Amino acid sequence: MPTMMGVGMPKKSGPRKANSKTKKAGAKSSTLAKKVAAKKLAEAKKKAEAQKKTLAAKKVAEAKKVAAKKLAEAKKKAEAQKKTLAAKKVAEAKKVAAKKLAEAQKKALAAKKVAAAKKVAEAKKAAAAKKVAAAKKVAEAKKAAAAKKVAAAKKVAEAKKAAAAKKAAERKAEADRKAEIKRALFEEKERLRLEALAQAEEERRAKEEAAAALAALGTRCELSGFYVKPSPSELTSATIGQLREKLVKEKEELERKANEFLAEAEALAREREGGDTQFDEESGDGDTINTERERDLLLSASARAVVEQIDEALERIKNGTYGVCTPAGRAIPLERLEAIPWADVCVDCKSRADRRR
Ligand SMILES: [Zn+2]
Repeated sequence: MPTMMGVGMPKKSGPRKANSKTKKAGAKSSTLAKKVAAKKLAEAKKKAEAQKKTLAAKKVAEAKKVAAKKLAEAKKKAEAQKKTLAAKKVAEAKKVAAKKLAEAQKKALAAKKVAAAKKVAEAKKAAAAKKVAAAKKVAEAKKAAAAKKVAAAKKVAEAKKAAAAKKAAERKAEADRKAEIKRALFEEKERLRLEALAQAEEERRAKEEAAAALAALGTRCELSGFYVKPSPSELTSATIGQLREKLVKEKEELERKANEFLAEAEALAREREGGDTQFDEESGDGDTINTERERDLLLSASARAVVEQIDEALERIKNGTYGVCTPAGRAIPLERLEAIPWADVCVDCKSRADRRR
């Protein structure tokens, strides 16, 4: 605006100067033609000037217009530039702001995140601490319970120990008492045992003395009760052989007789059973047969008994004890053996035994 005013001012004052100059020139000549011409010239001049002026004004206006246009354009451009710049600035500012905002947001988010993480961590920490505290509490409770248990167990153990000690003492006292009784019993028993031993020894010695005294007399014959001096048999093997032969012969004879008597007894039995009962009763023959049968049976048995004695004598020959009086061990005289080869007792012992009865 100030530029436009500056341009207009000098143009106005210019034409006013020229007009005054021409007026001065016309006045000096003072002719009409000249005046008309001058007038016409002035008018032409005026017209030209007006035209000039108009043109100039037009030019000026156009220039002004152009300038204005240029100015407007420049202004517009400047404004546009300004606007663009401003917009750019705004955009940049916006961008910066957005960036800043984003950064701030990011920062805030990060901070939020950090805070949240912190919070979580703290919560975790707190939870862990809580857990630890709880665990500690539990452990302490367990510890206390265990200690209580141990104390109780200790108490029980002590009570048991005391009871056991009491029992042990009682047992010991009882054992001592029993041991005392046992010892006394043992001593008594031992005393009795020694006494019995002494007595037995005394008896044994007495017996031994009596036996020695009797031995001086000889061996006691069980059969007669007398003491006899043992004497070995002096029979030769030849004599013994002869006596053996005799024994065998006698055995055969006795067995034959025993069988005969037995057969006769059986025959008599058959005769009695097969005979007339009525006749037997009347004549008394039944009794006779019975008596005879009994006699036969007795003879058969006695023969058998001697056979047994002969078997024993044969056994003694085998053993090497033949010809000796069995109870006392005294030799039986040959004469007696020749009469009764199965004899196992001497005449002396036998007669003494007979007298004892
Ligand atoms: Zn004898």
